[in-house]
Amino acid sequence: MRVELHKQIDASYDILIEPGLFEHIPNHLKRDPIGNKYAIITDSNVRRLYGDKLLSGLTGEGIDAHLIDFSAGEESKNLNTLGYLASQMVNNGLDRKSAVIALGGGVVGDVAGLVAATYMRGIDYIQVPTTLLAQVDSSVGGKTAVDLPEGKNLFGAFYQPKAVYIDPNVLLTLPDRRLRNGMAEVIKYGVIYDREFFEYLENNVGKIKRLDSEALTHIIYRSCEIKADVVKKDPREENLRSILNYGHTLGHAEEMCRGYKILHGEAVAIGMNFAGALAVEMKFWQEEELKRQNKLIKSFDLPLKPEFGPKELIKTMYHDKKAESGRIMFVLPESIGKMVAIDGKYRIPVSEKELMSVLCSLV
Ligand code: NAD
Repeated sequence: MRVELHKQIDASYDILIEPGLFEHIPNHLKRDPIGNKYAIITDSNVRRLYGDKLLSGLTGEGIDAHLIDFSAGEESKNLNTLGYLASQMVNNGLDRKSAVIALGGGVVGDVAGLVAATYMRGIDYIQVPTTLLAQVDSSVGGKTAVDLPEGKNLFGAFYQPKAVYIDPNVLLTLPDRRLRNGMAEVIKYGVIYDREFFEYLENNVGKIKRLDSEALTHIIYRSCEIKADVVKKDPREENLRSILNYGHTLGHAEEMCRGYKILHGEAVAIGMNFAGALAVEMKFWQEEELKRQNKLIKSFDLPLKPEFGPKELIKTMYHDKKAESGRIMFVLPESIGKMVAIDGKYRIPVSEKELMSVLCSLV
């Protein structure tokens, strides 16, 4: 006997980006409801800043909503929080027709997305990202997860939101270091996909640092557009989507070595310097362009050099990537705006000898 199941779904969704949009979310949901009831899932910091406001906006519109929060920070991104949120949702009477509003940074987005993916076998959710990193990266693409004691993001699902609401104004309350953290991913988009965008960033460092609304809106818009374009072409990361991991292989090793005391974007900045230097060493990329990339990274006060030694980092990378036959796969730039592809494949194998030689030249 065979159970014939041909899955064909339209998982398309809109990303709305507009300064001041946050105030209008209740209005939008009144007009185009996603659920019969909402669980606003947020963390303890964002609850104070925006959670209560959103709850009163929704109830003011006569929408049934409940606010559920957990302690801010990566430490909360675990199975206990997932269970806690699901129980709270049951206790608040959320059912199969209800929806989740993920209000917060990447941690909230990842946990709340996974709750939505699994609660009563899956309910709808929307993302309202409030950090730059979440607005340009984690809220788009449908990756949801929690961490296990064995490692980061090991328990999760691909589950797309019904909509993403981005208000650049909420970044005005974000600490400086968190803004820089998101800029590493923004710079990454320029390097991997769009030379013109990279040049825009070079020419608008001051405006972005001053949180100029037009500049912020533009960089968020273009970053989401690039991520969406890549995800659309390769939703399950079979080839092209791996270019989004530029800078992440070494970055991840640095994060692990430092026990996650460094922010993700900071580690990615170091990783981009490393992967860029690898590309130069392997004669894929011009040194001049690597210098340009690094100048831009530095102008946002992001680090370039790893704190850990080559041996430690290589060991961690091999363990992390479960490398086979002595090679680790990297995505590497060919020019600003374009990544190397050999026979159409973006993941390029790099030997331990090459890794060692470039790492030694960095530290
Ligand atoms: P985060 O969610 O921990 O937020 C950082 C801090 O900023 C928190 O303390 C939070 O309470 C606070 N905060 C959030 N919005 C604020 C605001 N507007 N004003 C003031 N404070 C605010 O961290 P993050 O950097 O946003 O996200 C990191 C997480 O994202 C990691 O767990 C990472 O694995 C995940 N991630 C996921 C994807 C994906 O595709 N799903 C991609 C990249 C990163």
